[in-house]
Amino acid sequence: MQILRTTKQATELVWQWRRRDASVGLVPTMGALHEGHLSLARTSVGQCDHTVTTIFVNPTQFAPHEDLSRYPRTLDADLEGLRREGVSAVFVPESDDIYPPGFSTSVQPPSVAQSLEGEFRPAHFQGVATVVLKLFHILPTTHAFFGQKDYQQLCVIRAMVRDLNVPIEIVACPTVRETDGLAMSSRNRYLNAEQRIRALRLFAALDAAEHAVHDGQRDAAAIERIMQATLLADGPEQGVDSIDYAKLVDAQTLQPIRQLDDRAVALIAAKVGSTRLIDNRLIDP
Ligand code: AMP
Repeated sequence: MQILRTTKQATELVWQWRRRDASVGLVPTMGALHEGHLSLARTSVGQCDHTVTTIFVNPTQFAPHEDLSRYPRTLDADLEGLRREGVSAVFVPESDDIYPPGFSTSVQPPSVAQSLEGEFRPAHFQGVATVVLKLFHILPTTHAFFGQKDYQQLCVIRAMVRDLNVPIEIVACPTVRETDGLAMSSRNRYLNAEQRIRALRLFAALDAAEHAVHDGQRDAAAIERIMQATLLADGPEQGVDSIDYAKLVDAQTLQPIRQLDDRAVALIAAKVGSTRLIDNRLIDP
């Protein structure tokens, strides 16, 4: 497995593969890898001739008050996990190589970025879209793999690729969960034992929404109330500490719906202690 430190090395290696007509999969990550990330790498290794993973904690997608400085960094374990999956190369750039002095261009994210995360993390998707487009250029791969765990991010990237004619195939991969249902996340390691239990409320709320639909409920507002009540449970001792949103929206546009007629997605962002967790589930009426 090659470790690529510079954008120049990265581009040259991918072009070497592409000149031989090989398919190449890209798996962008911020490191602190868990089974969710590794499942993306595994899918790419299975589908493409070569896979390159990137590990870069992108500063421009964090707001000043967010967890950039304390974001977990576990490079040695990350590299070991990727080697085991059969990844061909890992790109671990320095921030200065990605954002050299004078850097001032950015991607205006598509309209699907405006609601939900866009309301609570206003500059987040501009940072994501910009760095992902840069990675697509630095590593001109044929495919790129993203997790459904970050459902809105996936929508943003698909829309950007379509709107800007980026010649790459986006592959969505299912959310990998702990055995009790908690969606794997690099941020789960911030949770203490008591918070880890309360974090399960997100999964419980998605279950409650799905059951309500199964029992015939079609009113989006009623389903959202069920999710909120499940998230809060009996107050802060058992429930989450605060809810940013718990919404049922159109699965493609992420626009609000009144009635569940078409495929929808339930999306939650909530805080347990100071840790902000997100999760989602596709819901088919
Ligand atoms: P991150 O390192 O959090 O930026 O995530 C990198 C990629 O891994 C993104 O495409 C995420 O959607 C994906 N990912 C993160 N957690 C999971 C998970 N539990 N299951 C599947 N994919 C995930």
